[in-house]
Amino acid sequence: MIPLFSDLVMNKNLDFLSAVKKVLDRHWYVLGEEVTGFESEFSNYVGVGHCVSMANGTDAIEIALRSVGVERGDLVVTVANAGFYSSTAIHAIGATPLYVDINPSCMTMSVDALAEALKQNPKCVIVTHLYGQLANIKELLALAHAAGVMLIEDCAQSHGAVLDGQQAGSFGDAACFSFYPTKNLGAMGDGGAVVTNNDELAARLKTLRQYGWSSKYHVGHAGGKNSRLDEMQAAILRIKLPLLASWNTARRDIASRYNEAFAGLAFDALPTVNESYVAHLYVARVQNRDALRDFLKAQGVATDVHYPVPDHHQAAYTQPRLAGSMEVTESLCKTLVTLPCFPGMTDEEVESVISAVKKFFEQ
Ligand SMILES: *Cc1c(COP(=O)(O)O)cnc(C)c1O
Repeated sequence: MIPLFSDLVMNKNLDFLSAVKKVLDRHWYVLGEEVTGFESEFSNYVGVGHCVSMANGTDAIEIALRSVGVERGDLVVTVANAGFYSSTAIHAIGATPLYVDINPSCMTMSVDALAEALKQNPKCVIVTHLYGQLANIKELLALAHAAGVMLIEDCAQSHGAVLDGQQAGSFGDAACFSFYPTKNLGAMGDGGAVVTNNDELAARLKTLRQYGWSSKYHVGHAGGKNSRLDEMQAAILRIKLPLLASWNTARRDIASRYNEAFAGLAFDALPTVNESYVAHLYVARVQNRDALRDFLKAQGVATDVHYPVPDHHQAAYTQPRLAGSMEVTESLCKTLVTLPCFPGMTDEEVESVISAVKKFFEQ
């Protein structure tokens, strides 16, 4: 079976043991020099002033929201096609997601839908750079800021994506990353971070990730929690970060080959493969999606659906607040399919996926 993701080849020649042994020999496991080192290397990479690491990407979103002043009862604008991550963070605060529709070509937040939503006086906007592609971030940011509303980027799928020389995570007031193992930069466990250029936000993020402490055992800020990246994961991420650019190139190359091979088929993939897309997930829209998935499974090709249920249709939350029609989001769930695309995927594997997909459309 060709898997959707594997880090077998990526990790093959990397020396994680020496890095982990250094941590073990130091006997210092939380908020130590590996974390400080990674935070400074990652903020340099993104091109921002501060990186504050956390336990995972969902905590990063929650803590970022709290840092910009989101409280119980506030509205936070978000899309509904990204796996309930931002919704989880918003609900954790007792705030309310205000769902907006997406643009049908890029499947990220619709600029027009945001303009409508801003009329309801939300406290904050979360823009998700889904599948590894940057959303229309400059237009969305201009709209939000013109309305006096803070904007947080969700970069959990877009580490290293670039627009006009600027990295994902350097546009918004703050930006959140996840280092879950399958992400473009992944740890060997959970991890996350918030980056920002704002000194005041950075200081607040640091207190909020550790009980709201203004200094040890003194709680100066309400809404804190315990959410810290540990030294082992930071040491592992420091080995992987220098390789991120080459891994993103490898992902993009696979996406380009797929796009070229599938150009004539009823297979509606993301149109552009350029530096603003780091191919976290290679998705396409296909009318007979379930038949294609069954066929590929029989041919030994794993697929998945990102994501099958929009946030506003999730069973656990029955009265979602919508800013307008959610038609594009809803119709996509039935046609989306994700194909294997990861660094270290062999030419042979890519060819097998291509020929299996072609065979499906020929039959
Ligand atoms: C993975 C992911 C998250 C959540 O990250 P965790 O580390 O799993 O909490 C948030 N947003 C998006 C878009 C993601 O893909």
